[in-house]
Amino acid sequence: MTTGSLRWAGVRRAIPPLPQLLGWTATVGALCFLVRGLVYLDSWSYAMVWPAVAPQLVALLMAPRRQWPVYLAAFAAIQIIPARFALGLSPEIGVLSTLTAVVFAAVMLHSDQEWVSGRSDSLRSWQRFLFYGVLLAPVLASPIGVAGLAVNGEVGTEPRALAFAAMAWYLTEAVGIAFLVPLMLRWRHYARRHTWREVAWFTTMTAVTVGLCAASATKSSFVLVFLTGLPALLVLIRSGIASAFAEMAIGSALVLGSTFAGYGPFAASLDDSGQAMISAQVFVLGAFTMVVLVAAALEDRERLVALDDASHKAYELIAELTGDVVILVDAAGNVLHRASEGHEILDIPDGPITKERWLDHVHPDDRAARADFPASDPGASAPFRVRRTDGSWGWYVLHSRRTADGLTAAIMRDVTLERQVQDSLTDMANTDPLTGLANRRGLDQRAAEIWCRAGQDGEQVTALFIDIDHFKSFNDLYGHQAGDECLRHIAEVLSHLADPSVCVAARYGGEEFAVVLSGCDDASGFAKGLVRAIRSLAIPHGGADAGTVTISVGVATLRPWRLTEADPDTAVRELLDRADKALYAAKSEGRNAISIYRDGAVLLGE
Ligand code: GH3
Ligand code: MG
Ligand code: MG
Repeated sequence: MTTGSLRWAGVRRAIPPLPQLLGWTATVGALCFLVRGLVYLDSWSYAMVWPAVAPQLVALLMAPRRQWPVYLAAFAAIQIIPARFALGLSPEIGVLSTLTAVVFAAVMLHSDQEWVSGRSDSLRSWQRFLFYGVLLAPVLASPIGVAGLAVNGEVGTEPRALAFAAMAWYLTEAVGIAFLVPLMLRWRHYARRHTWREVAWFTTMTAVTVGLCAASATKSSFVLVFLTGLPALLVLIRSGIASAFAEMAIGSALVLGSTFAGYGPFAASLDDSGQAMISAQVFVLGAFTMVVLVAAALEDRERLVALDDASHKAYELIAELTGDVVILVDAAGNVLHRASEGHEILDIPDGPITKERWLDHVHPDDRAARADFPASDPGASAPFRVRRTDGSWGWYVLHSRRTADGLTAAIMRDVTLERQVQDSLTDMANTDPLTGLANRRGLDQRAAEIWCRAGQDGEQVTALFIDIDHFKSFNDLYGHQAGDECLRHIAEVLSHLADPSVCVAARYGGEEFAVVLSGCDDASGFAKGLVRAIRSLAIPHGGADAGTVTISVGVATLRPWRLTEADPDTAVRELLDRADKALYAAKSEGRNAISIYRDGAVLLGE
């Protein structure tokens, strides 16, 4: 694109679409000449210039800013040219006044397109409109307008007359902007959004208003005029803000029209018709401001309620999607609210649950740890068990955070699966795959537990170190498969030696096994039983003296209460070391033997 065509595109964008431009200009022109016609009838009719201000402001608010100059030029032309050439008037200063109000209000309100387009009726937007559009813009315009009147000799130049004219000018523009601008901006919403019920309600209330206005005009009753505020509020509540404007515009037109024509309470109470118009307009503006603020406040409240509702639903959905149970707990630990179902774990009704009720669902072993929640653990808790509806125990972790108002929000995350995986990994890490017995790591862990328990119960702990005799030659004679099979048979015997809660049997490595058990008073007898059991397996072994597979066993015993200083791991290592020494002695004695470590010496048994 060349620079020239770019510039041309810029110029084109600054020109409003022709139908809009012509439509708005014609509207402004028609209204201005209507007002001019009224001025002929009554010298106070400049108090009715207001209809011309609103369409100019609305046109600017709805157009992009770059199109404003064209609009403003068209509006000035339509007001000045015919008046000057056809009527011989010089309305320039009056037009300058109007355009000042229009431009100021447009600049201040244009950025709030949410309000301009009728998408938002927030209290803030309406306050901006009232302040800049209804209050300040006419305040700026009225001195200029009055100057125009004074220059044209349409008003006296003494201060009182000027002040009075300025007041009237201000009010006329304020009323015009206040009523017509929102009505014009929201007209399409008014036509689109309302049900027939709302329209019927609007029609009825408008009829009531018309009746009240007519009655007040004939009776000159202020009470009846004030009562017109009631249908306006009723329309507002039932049919919304746009309907309220339409209804108030009709009511205001009637009040102002009748006052202008010399009827009604304002005209009757004041001798000066100008003052009567001013009073009527002040009344109308006051009623308008009140209704607008009530309407906007109602709108804000509805919007907040809707927003609150939507965010609550979104929060429940998110809670549901995470699969966690989301709860809100008070300072005492009572569950106030459960955001997601959690039916799979909690067989309890909806609504608040006392802390005691809640703890009933926690596994008895984990209850103590949970009892001082939420005082105890902000952050993540240790895993604990909760009863599920199917009766099983699920593992859960609680992540919690305290809220500003002293409550605690917590999510309960199901970690049962992780826990199962972790358990089976631990099992795998501690188990020998060939025999299914504990491996060395499993032995260390279990033996330390047995040691501790024995210490508490006052039991002695015995270790047996077992080695298969001539196993290398067994492999050589029968093959490794047979060797593995032999290892499994022996492991089978070891796994059934004693109650698993006090005994662990492990494959220590190769063809060596270890057993640690507590509460065995006759270690030597126990070892003898083991040797016999292996012998009775009668696994043929051509390379052994006995003709069958035999084992050598080293035995050692320690009393935990004699080693109070040693930690369990060290104590168990010492015990196994002694048994190993004994085993070595048994081997050196020619195998198929038991030897016992006692007081630093090794005694030979069988
Ligand atoms: P000793 O009577 O002195 O104990 O003689 P041994 O032959 O039993 O001892 P050694 O330590 O010389 O040999 C142990 C053999 O155990 C060597 C190896 O082939 C065998 N072995 C170790 N682990 C396995 C296993 O997992 N499967 C099989 N089949 N054999 C194994
Ligand atoms: Mg060996
Ligand atoms: Mg061996």
